[in-house]
Amino acid sequence: MPPSNLTLQPVAFSKPRLSAATSGLLPEPALQAVKAQVLLAQPRGFCAGVVRAIDIVERALELYGAPVYVHHEIVHNGHVVQMLRERGAVFVDSVDDIPLGAPTVFSAHGVSHAVVARSAARGLQVIDATCPLVSKVHQQVQRYAQQGRAVLVIGHPGHQEVIGTLGRVPGARLVSSVAEVQALQFAPDAPLAYVTQTTLSLDDTRDIIAALHERFADLQGPDTDDICYATQNRQAAVRALAAEVDVVFIVGANNSSNSARLREVAQQAGVPAFLVADESGVDPAWLRGARRIGVGAGASTPEVLVQRVVQRLREWGAGPVVQLPGLEERISFRLPLALIERAA
Ligand code: SF4
Repeated sequence: MPPSNLTLQPVAFSKPRLSAATSGLLPEPALQAVKAQVLLAQPRGFCAGVVRAIDIVERALELYGAPVYVHHEIVHNGHVVQMLRERGAVFVDSVDDIPLGAPTVFSAHGVSHAVVARSAARGLQVIDATCPLVSKVHQQVQRYAQQGRAVLVIGHPGHQEVIGTLGRVPGARLVSSVAEVQALQFAPDAPLAYVTQTTLSLDDTRDIIAALHERFADLQGPDTDDICYATQNRQAAVRALAAEVDVVFIVGANNSSNSARLREVAQQAGVPAFLVADESGVDPAWLRGARRIGVGAGASTPEVLVQRVVQRLREWGAGPVVQLPGLEERISFRLPLALIERAA
């Protein structure tokens, strides 16, 4: 792919060190092939909701001391979870596994009413790290339900955020495809409302919403969707990146919805794209013949993992590393009042 006229910012990286443990893994023909520039998407990595959630666990550990219990992975990234585990966080899948009265953090993905009620019944000292943009969706579904509307949640089955949102109002239904819209059993004039998971693909969601509008006359929803600023910005950045490169690596966990969507965005732009948890996931065979390599990262991916992937590429001969121009996000969310008051 020929280089474009984009203004690229050089990114400073330390001199690559070839080690037996890394360069030794690369077969000689592939090593010769990695003479490619590395382009970084901007923005990439942590969003404001993830920064806040991690901050909440760290501050809770300082204020209460270890252990602090966390309901599900605080954010979908194994490296972040392990770092917090080493500092004394204990991750559980059910609040029933938490000792009575213990300090407990709800993850950034939010929880159902049942989890809130069960936590209260067990006297847990809850600090809610639900992203404010997910809380906004919870408020939306409650408002729609109070208006007597059946609530449809557009999202991926089994995702923690979707489970939490579905559990905010009785009878909420999950819709994850246009085919599922066609299969809905409501009358054409039934009062309905929809919300969306915050980390969906913009394109896929648009199709589902359009299908809902085609079938149902009395349908309410947000102006467009609930896909958050961070998801939209990262998808736009990866779309721009994909237009410039021969292969894209998205650094992110397998269970990270927004990272998986980023890989799809690059693929839909016609570029081979791979989701890698860290540098160990990069297969040198994917680099063969590439003249420009793109690297992006999901909203729950620490920048250090991006740097480790880039470092591995440089050890294999790739470089220089440049950052594409893009949005600089300046959004931050306030910590929960309960945490601020306890710290005072
Ligand atoms: Fe909040 Fe969006 Fe980040 Fe999810 S991806 S934590 S909704 S800002």
